[in-house]
Amino acid sequence: MDFTFKTIAEFNDYFKDEKTCYEFLELQRWDGTPVCPHCGSVKKPYNVKARSKVAAIQEIPHYRCAEKECSLPFTVRTGSIFEGSKVELKKWFQAAYEISTRKKGISSLELAERIDVSQKTAWFINHRLRNMLKDTNPELLTGIVEADETYVGGKLKNKHESKKRKEKTKYGRFYNTGDKTTVVGLLQRDGKVVTYVTPNAEAATIAPIMVAHLDKDATLITDDHKSYKEVGKNYKHLMVKTTYGSYVTHGNVHTNTIEGFWSQLKRGIIGTFHVVSPKHLQRYCNEFSYRYNNKGVSNIERFAESIKQCANTRLTYKSLISNEQ
Ligand SMILES: [Zn+2]
Repeated sequence: MDFTFKTIAEFNDYFKDEKTCYEFLELQRWDGTPVCPHCGSVKKPYNVKARSKVAAIQEIPHYRCAEKECSLPFTVRTGSIFEGSKVELKKWFQAAYEISTRKKGISSLELAERIDVSQKTAWFINHRLRNMLKDTNPELLTGIVEADETYVGGKLKNKHESKKRKEKTKYGRFYNTGDKTTVVGLLQRDGKVVTYVTPNAEAATIAPIMVAHLDKDATLITDDHKSYKEVGKNYKHLMVKTTYGSYVTHGNVHTNTIEGFWSQLKRGIIGTFHVVSPKHLQRYCNEFSYRYNNKGVSNIERFAESIKQCANTRLTYKSLISNEQ
């Protein structure tokens, strides 16, 4: 890309009209060659006129598929996260810029003010963008890979002390206690992270994540809990020993990197969003993972790369395990 923006004002100045935004999106999504989102045809589509009297809308490129059996109309928004939204692309772009560049993300309340939409619309935009940020075609993790799980949210602290103790001893750390939600993660040192919201952290739950994301030659580092002992059998596996609740680390054998990521995730969620329901947690994990995985690039690149994924389909833990079967 031959332009750089130092400020959000410069960014907004560049994407000032819808035509510019559409053309930019066409370049990112299609590399400039329209692909019919209905049938996948790359046959040069017909340019058609927009059915609108508004000049700004008439300027937007509208197409009709050139395949006889298809012949359906489309724009670059069709089949993407922007489909069916009345919000102008320039506002979506600003939202995507904010979410992909801010360390802790942006709350729907603040986004609503920034792009002048209702909070409900901003909430919807944020969630669609989080879906977009999911890496649906990740490379296998290799080299040294740390695996760990964390528990997010919940009101355990509000519970009676005896109940809390009982849950802790009964379930250990391998079940959702109270309304805490389990997130399992794999992180390649000096590489990327993948995160999954899961029903628990049992070996049977973690195993398909390992199979899907871990290179067979990778060196796996985990703590010494039972689940990891089991799933680590197929890999070169080093374990951090637990002694009386604290971890003893030796040189390279630690899980500090992924623990650092977990604390970033939790601080971000608490600081910016306060409460996240388990139903939406995977999307927040996508958002934080995306920023972590693209930390080495400039803001504009991080934005432009994210937009390329606008036709992402959701990848959930459910879809991951159904692919395995
Ligand atoms: Zn078509």
